[in-house]
Amino acid sequence: MVELLCDRAPVGACASLSFGAAIDHLTGTVYGSAPLWGDESAPYDLGADLRRRRPDVNWCLVNDVTAALLDFATMHARPGTRRVAYLTVSSGIALRIADLEQTRIPVDDRGLQGEVGHLPVTLTHPGADKLVGLPCECGATDHLASVASGPGLNRTAERLGFSGAPQVASWLPDALATGEPGARRLLELCVAPIAQLLRTLWCLDPHLDLIGIGGGVAEGLGGHYAAEVRSQLAVATSYADRGRDDAWLDDRLVFCVPGQVDALRGAQRVGDWLPRITR
Ligand SMILES: [Zn+2]
Repeated sequence: MVELLCDRAPVGACASLSFGAAIDHLTGTVYGSAPLWGDESAPYDLGADLRRRRPDVNWCLVNDVTAALLDFATMHARPGTRRVAYLTVSSGIALRIADLEQTRIPVDDRGLQGEVGHLPVTLTHPGADKLVGLPCECGATDHLASVASGPGLNRTAERLGFSGAPQVASWLPDALATGEPGARRLLELCVAPIAQLLRTLWCLDPHLDLIGIGGGVAEGLGGHYAAEVRSQLAVATSYADRGRDDAWLDDRLVFCVPGQVDALRGAQRVGDWLPRITR
């Protein structure tokens, strides 16, 4: 990959990379990428490697979710939007939040933010006890991505004993369209931890005014996915979470369609933000 990139970059170019890995935004160090590299977790300074081989090129490395967030925020934030998030539900799951009031993307001491796919999953939805112990690409079990990512959907289908597994991606949309109960059940279980993540986000940050949801799973299942997320969020779970009506959700949730968010376009915009991607 490094050889290819160095081979293709024109002399003196400014190269923006949208890279699908947990990456230190300030240095370009890659900490891991379960969908790409499995359980490999030795940090790799991709940015330094590129700069050493092609010092004439101005390399700008940005995590693909951060890049997607920058594009989403530019296209969808309205005057007065305080914080905006982008959640990708794809081969992996990750979230990024930008503070538009300060034009800032806060990151931790490793330059990371929002790697939620590899947090332990809360399996409280009725029937979700069947999903205990599902593996994750990172090598652990019971992570959010174990259940709710694209591969997680396959694992869940298999665990539930569906004959459509492991070709869920081709079987599920049609099965949902015809209202097959097993398909609805599968979607419900895989969406439940995502709905829980959204509830938690709004509980912890009332100024999170806008969330975009994209990625292969969410976009591929389209209206079915959106309807399931919205119907789960409509349910009151406690006095602190009284459920959210259509108008409230319309104002804050955007379900992206394929092509709506362009991570490469976002990567080109990261220069405007880099001084304010801060620890
Ligand atoms: Zn994991």
